[in-house]
Amino acid sequence: NRAGGSQIWFDGRFIDTADGEAPLTTHAMHYGSGVFEGIRAYATTDGGSAVFRLPEHLQRMRKGCELLGIPFDVAAATEATLQVLRRNGHRDAYVRPLAWCGTGSIGLDVAPLSKHLMVATFPTNVHLAGAHVRLGTSSWRRNPATSLPPLKLCGAYVNSILAKHEARQRGFNEALFVDDQGRVVECTGANVFMVRDGRVTAVEHRDALQGITRDTVIALTGAESRPVRHDELLDADAVFVCGTAAEVTPVAELDDRRYDDHRVALEIAAHYQRVVRGDDARYVHWLTRV
Ligand code: PMP
Repeated sequence: NRAGGSQIWFDGRFIDTADGEAPLTTHAMHYGSGVFEGIRAYATTDGGSAVFRLPEHLQRMRKGCELLGIPFDVAAATEATLQVLRRNGHRDAYVRPLAWCGTGSIGLDVAPLSKHLMVATFPTNVHLAGAHVRLGTSSWRRNPATSLPPLKLCGAYVNSILAKHEARQRGFNEALFVDDQGRVVECTGANVFMVRDGRVTAVEHRDALQGITRDTVIALTGAESRPVRHDELLDADAVFVCGTAAEVTPVAELDDRRYDDHRVALEIAAHYQRVVRGDDARYVHWLTRV
């Protein structure tokens, strides 16, 4: 753990973050041929730290890598993740593994290309919960699952970037994707829930990423999961979003609708914090100790 800087696990060794470079002909940079994950490690109340639902994140990454022909060893990636967290001494951290196609050809066939893996960690103890999410309904459609599977493929995120950019230009800070039938899909990097008469509903859509936080919230609350129309969301008592980075965050506004009662979301957010920090014995099996 060098003074001032952190290190990145890169193809089996550690490098200083500032020394990390990729050739300008890197395939992933030209075509988006990579797969990433967003994972969180949390300081636990027993003084240690743990990665939340690490196997689930790495299995999702493996699926994406398989589609792109990038070899991915879950056990090796697990070890790399734990090693880099220990090395950097980050207890509350955002963990970013990335697998990508490197050099060897400028064509679209990935077979001749070098393949790489890195794992970086970023210290964080920021909770978005309580932040002011102002959602604008995007004019962009989510990548249809029939064209791009909802996995964390690098190139697919151009779709999220377009929606985020449009939302910011219109004065919102996050975008909501809906489909041609007016059904809610997800946000640019988070899944959507609504609360009505105290009932919690998880938005289900085949074009949305199967979020691990979404799955967690369903397990914690017994929420039903079903397709939800945009007008149901506008009619709901409350809306919240969730994701590994977003955690559980109430939505303050959707287009010109304001939501004022965030009690249910804040209760779930608080429970989520207890779970990820190892304070709820029922869910400690979701923690991988660093
Ligand atoms: N949807 C998208 C598009 C995302 O990028 C993310 C973040 N990974 C999520 C939903 C939430 O997924 P998770 O809870 O697994 O982080």
